[in-house]
Amino acid sequence: MSKGSKQRPTAQSFYDNWDDIFGEDDEDLSGFEWECLKCEKGLDEDDLYIVEEINHEPMGDRIVERIERMAHCNNCGQEAEYAG
Ligand SMILES: [Zn+2]
Repeated sequence: MSKGSKQRPTAQSFYDNWDDIFGEDDEDLSGFEWECLKCEKGLDEDDLYIVEEINHEPMGDRIVERIERMAHCNNCGQEAEYAG
């Protein structure tokens, strides 16, 4: 078999999803910058936990599910602000 055709990894990482949601095309994952307004400090991904919220939105004459992921501060639970 030829080794010419590269396959993209099928396991989509959390960060790929994140890019889809926020429309960022940042290949440098270390560029993630979040901040907690309550703790008044910057957060990296280790300081975050993710809450998934399912929204039901009308689309035409149907209702579609849209999953929204939100980052929260690990320290206080406050929703994190995207600062990057
Ligand atoms: Zn906090």
